[in-house]
Amino acid sequence: MERDFVALAGPIFFVLIALELWVAHRRGQRLYRLNDAINDISTGILMQLTVLVAKGVIVAGYFWIHANFRLADFPSDSAWTWIGCFLGVDLAYYWFHRLSHEINFLWAAHVVHHQSEDYNLAVALRQSSLQPFFSSFFYWPLALVGFPPVVFLACGAFNTLYQFWLHTRTIDRLGPLEAILVTPSHHRVHHGRNPVYIDKNHGGTFILWDRLFGTFEREREEVFYGITKPLASWNPVWANLHYWVELFEIARKAHRPIDKLLTFLKPPGWFPEDQGGFQPPPPVGRDPIQFDPPYPRALRGYAILQFAILVGLTIPMGMLKESLSLDIKWAGIALVGWGLVNLGGLFEGRAWSLPSEAIRVFVSPLVPLFVLSGPPAWITAGFLALGLPAFLLKQASLVPASPRRGGEPSGGPAEAGGDAALTRP
Ligand SMILES: [Zn+2]
Ligand SMILES: [Zn+2]
Repeated sequence: MERDFVALAGPIFFVLIALELWVAHRRGQRLYRLNDAINDISTGILMQLTVLVAKGVIVAGYFWIHANFRLADFPSDSAWTWIGCFLGVDLAYYWFHRLSHEINFLWAAHVVHHQSEDYNLAVALRQSSLQPFFSSFFYWPLALVGFPPVVFLACGAFNTLYQFWLHTRTIDRLGPLEAILVTPSHHRVHHGRNPVYIDKNHGGTFILWDRLFGTFEREREEVFYGITKPLASWNPVWANLHYWVELFEIARKAHRPIDKLLTFLKPPGWFPEDQGGFQPPPPVGRDPIQFDPPYPRALRGYAILQFAILVGLTIPMGMLKESLSLDIKWAGIALVGWGLVNLGGLFEGRAWSLPSEAIRVFVSPLVPLFVLSGPPAWITAGFLALGLPAFLLKQASLVPASPRRGGEPSGGPAEAGGDAALTRP
């Protein structure tokens, strides 16, 4: 169960993120922004929750093809089966990933991973909820060839886990390993929006495929991370939808029916002739960070606590998923999703976010009392109720510290004070 391994690795990811923060602190580097990191991990949580209800659909095709149409029987206790399957998974990943950058409807599902303008281990957790539905098809040839599902899922899990450590600026080039493996340096290039870096280094574990198929690029100039048109939002649901909305808008405006179809099949940057034709990626400006709205200082501790509670609700849901009914899963998804969207709204200073958050922290402890029974109901309700005092305290701290309602905070993004969060529509 590929993504189950990934879910179980969650605590290790957080330990490594803490380690990266410590290294960055010692070196005097600022690698993380709280709002960006929470947004990264929020998209990862939404992906995990999607897989929670749709896992069967995502892996069913592989099982079905292997059971009915496999051309050979490879024994799962042979090292050659594992080596062959791993190379096959890595090759399939390369083509899935490459086409996800070169075909608009696949990019709409992959873009989430590239929206962050920071580059750190939290970005590795930045994942699209829709992508698993598109990626699964690319692995079907391995089922047809005859690699057993258990071997395929383990190789897929390793390939996914391997990519976690690539998302860091704390590791420089790695000598001879650069020729064989995908390294942090190679993958930094992949996340660059510099025109020279766009659509390069798609590999998962081996850099071989990029060298073979002509998409390799060395890290040669400072990398500016993110996408050419910034997402400019901390809403993890909108992160999954924004590019679809853009594509449907282009298709709606297109006069020729064929252009409506081509909108989804052409590469990013393509527009019908009557909308100006192809627009190449713009050169990078001077500022590596394009989206960095100020937020009130009082929000930091509050957001960290609420986020920890939401993560704390997600992890047991992932572990107990076999025994949870669909009702409970949906209730959990709604609660966690609501909280994550609110946190994004608070960091952006959206006017709706404070009332929505007030309702959520008061209502959410009641939900487990309705959907669970016995001690789990009381334990979960008590756990969710931990967020209530934080919300009340946050209100108390915000009220006297709000002399500049409607004005810009004076200390820059990291030092923002007052209630800037309450001022944007
Ligand atoms: Zn990519
Ligand atoms: Zn990446």
